[in-house]
Amino acid sequence: AEEAIRRTEKLSVIGQLAAGVAHEIRNPLTTLRGFVQLSQKQGSLSEPFIEIMLSELDRINLIVGEFLVLAKPQAGKPQPTNLDNLLQDMIALLYSQARLLNVSFVTHFDKDLPLLDCDANQMKQVFINIIKNALEAMQDISGTITIELRHDSEASVVVIRVIDQGRGIAADELPRLGEPFFTSKPSGNGLGLMVSQRIIANHKGVMNISSKLGEGTCVEIRLPLR
Ligand code: ADP
Ligand code: MG
Repeated sequence: AEEAIRRTEKLSVIGQLAAGVAHEIRNPLTTLRGFVQLSQKQGSLSEPFIEIMLSELDRINLIVGEFLVLAKPQAGKPQPTNLDNLLQDMIALLYSQARLLNVSFVTHFDKDLPLLDCDANQMKQVFINIIKNALEAMQDISGTITIELRHDSEASVVVIRVIDQGRGIAADELPRLGEPFFTSKPSGNGLGLMVSQRIIANHKGVMNISSKLGEGTCVEIRLPLR
């Protein structure tokens, strides 16, 4: 019976989500349709319109991509993964964006970390989402994002922390984090945290977010080693 209840809950969450996704996709589609119509009338479109169309298409692609990760019943086949390398790669990927924002990355990584059995692509997605959020929280606030990677051998877990000095999160918003489509950003989609939490849960891990408005945010992820 418990399993049945769990399954119904899951269904309704996915149903809710699908409705949200449909809604989120309809807006850019409406814009795109308008521009295609305009192009039909004029015979061509100027560069700025094409730019907007491309970014609307990217937006649809992103939303569908995040949704697909969620729709996957479980993580792909776990492989022994070097989290140190994986995190360094993600930091490198976001390095130029950080520079533009005047943000520097500081890393504290334990040496000789054991490999973690995980779906590396999904883990990448988690860290990109979280580091991107940290960067976006530091828009117009220069400073550092500290990324820690620790091995707690007693508890047999790896602990990853992403600590920013950004705008922080109001206490009444904290419980809403990870709710589908909850966003405080004009062009956010409010899917990143939900997808990340789902991936971490699929790996039997936990994610905790602590924050103080005006001071910054710490996202902590604990993943069991076996
Ligand atoms: P999005 O980034 O598209 O808004 P997310 O699910 O990644 O969606 O995040 C949801 C919301 O959580 C953000 O809009 C923001 O309000 C809040 N948030 C997440 N991470 C941080 C952070 N590091 N600092 C401040 N707010 C954050
Ligand atoms: Mg985000």
